[in-house]
Amino acid sequence: LDASGENFSSEEFDVERALRPLSFDDFAGQEQVLENLQVFVQAANMRGEALDHTLFHGPPGLGKTTLANILANELQVGIKVTSGPVLDKPGDLAGLLTNLEERDILFIDEIHRLSPIVEEYLYSAMEDYRIDIMIETGPNARTVQINLNPFTLIGATTRSGLLTAPMRARFGISSRLQYYSTELLSGIVERSAEILKVPIEQNAAIEIAGRSRGTPRIANALLRRVRDFAQIKGNGKIDMEIAKFGLKALNVDAHGLDEMDNKILTTIIDKFKGGPVGISTLATAVSESAETIEEVYEPFLIQQGFIYRTPRGREVTEAAYKHLGRVKGSTQGG
Ligand code: ATP
Repeated sequence: LDASGENFSSEEFDVERALRPLSFDDFAGQEQVLENLQVFVQAANMRGEALDHTLFHGPPGLGKTTLANILANELQVGIKVTSGPVLDKPGDLAGLLTNLEERDILFIDEIHRLSPIVEEYLYSAMEDYRIDIMIETGPNARTVQINLNPFTLIGATTRSGLLTAPMRARFGISSRLQYYSTELLSGIVERSAEILKVPIEQNAAIEIAGRSRGTPRIANALLRRVRDFAQIKGNGKIDMEIAKFGLKALNVDAHGLDEMDNKILTTIIDKFKGGPVGISTLATAVSESAETIEEVYEPFLIQQGFIYRTPRGREVTEAAYKHLGRVKGSTQGG
């Protein structure tokens, strides 16, 4: 498992889908975001209008795609799903846009990775529900204007900082998703266990939840793996013992920190005396991009109290030393 929890096989895709909440009522947490969305959806439904363009940002696996699908259900409209890197030609986008029915949703995952030409195209589509299509090339080239049905663009990104200003300005609704508490996650684990028809004890659900890096996708992935241990090494039921056994076998640490999380902490301690260290220096030292550290790893490490930001860079906390079993002042490795 990596921080996104996305490393599962294609057979597991269907399971993943079965676990996905379909309505506002099924969706746990993110209260503030949900409350607002419910109002906007109700208002759009009453007026019979398309929902305003909506941007979801935040670390991977917190429910951006799930929310986009819920919005489609609650608006009772269709949804077409694509992603920034896939849409590399304006023609691809035009094809999708012209096939949207009134009030439909176009969901673009990783919207920060759109090519500049495609992005330019989207502007007029979002603003005026219109696109200019170039037909023919050379001396006969001309543009034809096509009117689109009013639609809702939902964009999802883990890197809102990489979104261009004009793009960001075109979203009427922008919501940041937060990490989930252990309590919420254990509720999600119990709900998923019920769907998977595997009995689970409450304390085992809490144990799995507490090691899921605040992320529902990871919680579900761990549940599926622990279920395997329960089936093969136990009696099919997930109790505390089998949960602990499975999590240990999966090398999930007590806080659910993954390899990169731990690498970031040990690097700051061993190579930079606990910090402060600048983000780009740290990025080079752990061979990961500064953006990914800032948008995927660091938010969780800060939330868990392992790292803090200072004007001079990142520093690890006492809790990080303790977590790694290190003593402050002494270094290991190098
Ligand atoms: P990415 O941006 O990496 O695609 P994401 O933020 O879109 O991630 P989702 O794919 O929506 O994440 O969610 C991952 C899985 O976690 C879903 O299949 C769903 O089962 C579960 N999940 C997410 N949020 C919730 C929630 N609030 N309640 C219950 N399950 C959830």
